[in-house]
Amino acid sequence: MRDVLAPESMRWRRFVQVFADVVEAAGYEQIIPPLLEDIGVFSRVGEATDVVSKEMYDFVDKGERHVALRPEQTASVCRAFVQHRPNLPWKTWYTGPNFRYEKPQRGRYRQFDQVGIEVLGTTDPGLDVEIIALGWRFFSALGLQQVTLRLNSLGEPDDRRRYTDALRSHFTTNLGDLSPESRATLDRNPLRVLDSKRPEDAPIVDAAPVIDDFYSAEAATHFDAVRAGLTSLGIPFTRDARLVRGLDYYRFTTFEYAGGTLDSAQNALGGGGRYDGLVEDLGGPPTPGIGFALGLDRTLLACDDEGVFGAPVRPLDAFVVDTTGGGEAIVLADSLRGSGFRVDRAYDNRSMKSQMKAADRSGARVAVIIGSDEVAAGTVVIRDLRDGGDQMVIPRAELTDRLRALSSAQPKDPS
Ligand code: AMP
Repeated sequence: MRDVLAPESMRWRRFVQVFADVVEAAGYEQIIPPLLEDIGVFSRVGEATDVVSKEMYDFVDKGERHVALRPEQTASVCRAFVQHRPNLPWKTWYTGPNFRYEKPQRGRYRQFDQVGIEVLGTTDPGLDVEIIALGWRFFSALGLQQVTLRLNSLGEPDDRRRYTDALRSHFTTNLGDLSPESRATLDRNPLRVLDSKRPEDAPIVDAAPVIDDFYSAEAATHFDAVRAGLTSLGIPFTRDARLVRGLDYYRFTTFEYAGGTLDSAQNALGGGGRYDGLVEDLGGPPTPGIGFALGLDRTLLACDDEGVFGAPVRPLDAFVVDTTGGGEAIVLADSLRGSGFRVDRAYDNRSMKSQMKAADRSGARVAVIIGSDEVAAGTVVIRDLRDGGDQMVIPRAELTDRLRALSSAQPKDPS
């Protein structure tokens, strides 16, 4: 778990703002679920997944309740839906930290942030297309150009079940040639064996049955509609019949976005898909859902690698230097801030020289200098800290106009 200091923290905030702008333009409204939920909310997501079986931060609280820090937010959104019953379709977005007890490495942390959307209440394949397109639009709003999209369909639950059985029998027949890790995975979830990146598993995985042969007519039609929709939007994708993703609840569409520059083990920027049954399991009516979650940390690493979406630069408009003892700085800084300027000042009644050094370090556009002569004359001195250090005396009453003129002459902050 890490601290995030400026300027990275500003970048995080802007990341969330860009995401909010993209999805709110499509009618999504924010939900802020709690960090902590009853363990049952998450255990329903998939007992057979590592996220739930091994990586959860769970404990018994002082009221003897078994609770967990959320490892993801889809389940929280579904729990909130059951509790509040908003109108359908319910289109919602979220952001914030999740917790997984994983082995930390570059792009993998025990506390990590995501942004995501979920829609409950419709099976329209047009919505699958909208959701995938919004993720795509977001990456492009960040300036990323090397993101790729992989797409699959897991069919209906019954298709998936038959496919899982076929996989189980294929892998069991070839058990001796599978890696020990995949043998263990096979017991829990044969679909996940398809995910194996171990070279010794490759021949058996390559020879495995493909899901296309198990689709019902409805599943095939849905998948065709999603592919056609993405094509009509000009969004490039690769069909990846092995993209199964972790949750037990997925059906129909699944997808994943990958960064072009990160090492392949950690290159997933985010992903999602359609699910069914989760709302019911949490005590609600049968309600289809679809959504995605994108990892903030890893997406920012991809931005670093592509040299885009750097930390925003928001310089101060002014730095107040007060040689009267500090009382003038209190008033001047407060009134300038009240007029909408970004203003800092020096403390501890330092010497003029030391205050000017602090002003230079602050990156402010100008220093506003006030001493007893200026107080007596009703003036201030402003010194340009960027271009040549020009300095002039102006009436105090003209200070805000002068600062405004100077700040509108600055190059605009890209944020
Ligand atoms: P998931 O909820 O596992 O589908 O993850 C969605 C996205 O969240 C991934 O593609 C990553 O970008 C991010 N993510 C998941 N786990 C972690 C982690 N431990 N550390 C950093 N990012 C993560």
